[in-house]
Amino acid sequence: MTRLLHRQTASALPVAVGGEGIELIDKTGKRYIDASGGAAVSCLGHGHPDVRAALHRQLDQIAYAHTGFFTTDAAEALAERLINDAPEGLSHVYLVSGGSEAVEAALKMARQYFVEKGEPQRRHIIARRQSYHGNTLGALAAGGNEWRRRQFQPLLIETHHVDPCFAYRHQGPTESDADYAARAARSLEDKVAELGGENVIAFVAETVVGATAGAVPPVADYFKRIREICDRHGILLILDEVMCGMGRTGTLHAVEQEGIRPDLMTVAKGLGGGYQPIGAVLLGGHIHDAFAQGSGFFQHGHTYMGHPMAAAAALAVQQVIARDNLLANVRAMGTVLHDRLTAQFGNHPNVGDIRGRGLFRAIELVADRGTKAPFDPTLKLNARIKKAAMAEGLMVYPMGGTIDGARGDHVLLAPPFIVTEDQVGTIVDRLARAVEAGLQEIA
Ligand code: PLP
Repeated sequence: MTRLLHRQTASALPVAVGGEGIELIDKTGKRYIDASGGAAVSCLGHGHPDVRAALHRQLDQIAYAHTGFFTTDAAEALAERLINDAPEGLSHVYLVSGGSEAVEAALKMARQYFVEKGEPQRRHIIARRQSYHGNTLGALAAGGNEWRRRQFQPLLIETHHVDPCFAYRHQGPTESDADYAARAARSLEDKVAELGGENVIAFVAETVVGATAGAVPPVADYFKRIREICDRHGILLILDEVMCGMGRTGTLHAVEQEGIRPDLMTVAKGLGGGYQPIGAVLLGGHIHDAFAQGSGFFQHGHTYMGHPMAAAAALAVQQVIARDNLLANVRAMGTVLHDRLTAQFGNHPNVGDIRGRGLFRAIELVADRGTKAPFDPTLKLNARIKKAAMAEGLMVYPMGGTIDGARGDHVLLAPPFIVTEDQVGTIVDRLARAVEAGLQEIA
């Protein structure tokens, strides 16, 4: 009997006892290809010798020093590295323990920025439907996933949600990308007009949408229009790259492909690659300066922020990615993965869309390709595929559809950046068998 409260109380999970490269090994000796990097976390795979060595060195030096008393070489070196590689304008790093904490900190930074600047009337946060920003109450309030929010609604701060940018589901059949980008962005413009631009703190969005909708990239120029609207009203743009960032889409930051700069950016999963829990907020110089020239402090903090073991792990992960030129492999294997998925599922009657960037890809499953009608979500097709995939020795990250048909079930793939062409082939073969098994069960 387990004393752990698991995600699902009735689940009997295999016990992970080892990891090697892109595989995890359970207690029975069974191997699983980690084709989802857990939840887009394990960018370097498992058991990497350089990260293990860096962690040992850090443990031998100092494991923990409270940031109210000390800084550490590990935290300083990681911040330096992150800012060297950051989009222009981002000047400082705030280190926390994960994605939700990073989003919470970014929201509070944005609010305090306007208090420091003498605009305390700014109080509204705008985000998008079909988004996910974390499970703590502030981050959950920002997210636009109705299913996750519903039972906690009375506890959530007031936030506002506008249209997502989701071409497969919302772009008209004859609508150009430019027209669709304008229409999707207009939803923010309308909301700002309703609330009064001078009352809005920030717009929060995932650059490439992850868990909720499944590797959904923006159409060209959408974020340029969003940046323009934010600038016109003095609203801060917070990009949440917790899942899509740190190399996952083929560039270190997904926003590099959008030609704009955020005011604040959150990163987490691929930052430490799962070797330690870590997240970060990268903040613009204007925000740092407002604090430095104002109250002189950011009124926030956590006991484990800037943790040296976490920083040392993240620094080692990022050094290996750069040294081994792994982003080139993300781009090359991303193309191979997309091509293999297209060859396997391009004509499949129940696969409506194959999308994503780099090694961040998804297929969306539909009952009818023509109408894009999703499967009844109570059939839990995504969970059936996950179970069948585990039986095949494959980890994938599936999510369910919505009753209103806003999206279908999808399966997200986010393999480690070290994946090879042969391994990509095996992933798609196993996924094909798991999809067929899931579909058979509900036929
Ligand atoms: N933001 C995004 C875009 C995410 O995908 C996630 C997690 O999936 C989070 C925030 C929350 O991160 P964490 O689970 O580390 O708290």
